Amino acid sequence: MTSKIYEYRDENDWYIGEWSSFGAGFYFNDVPEESANQLERQLRELVEDGQESFDLVLIKYSSAMTLVQFVLNIINENLGTDYKAVAHQGTILIEDQDQLKKVIFLDKQGVKLTDFFAQESLEKSVVGDSILIATHNQGKAKEFRAIFEKFGLKVESLHDYPDLPQVEETGTTFEENARLKAETIAQLTGKMVLADDSGLQVDILGGLPGVWSARFAGLDATDQENNIKLLHELAMVFDVKDRKAHFHTTLVVASPGRESLVVEADWPGYIAHEPKGENGFGYDPLFLVGETGKTSAELTLDEKNSQSHRAQAVQKLVEVFPAWQNKLL
Ligand code: IMP
Repeated sequence: MTSKIYEYRDENDWYIGEWSSFGAGFYFNDVPEESANQLERQLRELVEDGQESFDLVLIKYSSAMTLVQFVLNIINENLGTDYKAVAHQGTILIEDQDQLKKVIFLDKQGVKLTDFFAQESLEKSVVGDSILIATHNQGKAKEFRAIFEKFGLKVESLHDYPDLPQVEETGTTFEENARLKAETIAQLTGKMVLADDSGLQVDILGGLPGVWSARFAGLDATDQENNIKLLHELAMVFDVKDRKAHFHTTLVVASPGRESLVVEADWPGYIAHEPKGENGFGYDPLFLVGETGKTSAELTLDEKNSQSHRAQAVQKLVEVFPAWQNKLL
């Protein structure tokens, strides 16, 4: 009997698999989520003859694409297949050479037929099966991961490229900063890169903190220090209606030798008089969402991701990307 151990580990995903030439079966152990269970059922069918056994322990799980690729690499090595995973409209297609072997649905509901057969989808054309997000901010990386996960994309972050230099945000507009990051990193890596620049703009402060949101209270300011500074600046503005604000996001997709794609979106609200809520990051505890009276730190990650400035900007990106790409081909 022979058996071999495999491991995959990054900041969000950590799996250990064992392939053994004795026994029969295909098991995921300690599966933290129903979605991973679904993957097991679907991947199991790729190991047909039952002469082998495969055991997988998921220590951390966030990306279906990463998990599928990990399992496929092991199957390929042991069964001599050439399975490849390709993201497509909320599904993962398993291809073997030029044959489509399997469609893995990430959502139990399935996918609308018209979407599935729509011309080139964002996820396939933007990035093949991955997108490099140019951010060191864990909060944002987590949000982007959740958003792109729905498209079955593998999301890479700057943590996967530790040798890249830090790109200074020397611009005075969100677009300048987002371009600087996306275009510099695309040049350095040769990859399709998505960068965002976002921040909070308060009307009565003439749009501040704006591009200085992260460093409002000083270069190395913490979120809490920035929040305190913001409350201080607004101390004499008593009526919440006068504390109008919005979060803004500009997204830039850059690829070497191409004119970049730029989209932007706002999320309107007001600045509260005191922090509330435990979720999110940055100014979330002070940002009252629209007319709801709730701060964005009181929303769950899913609730925030369905309406935030970043989510709206990503939605716009999904809509305009195919046209952008076609013009440039
Ligand atoms: P960045 O330059 O895009 O990293 O964003 C600058 C700063 O804007 C962050 O450090 C936060 O303080 C703030 N910010 C951006 N997006 C959000 C958000 O969704 N919630 C709270 N604060 C945010």
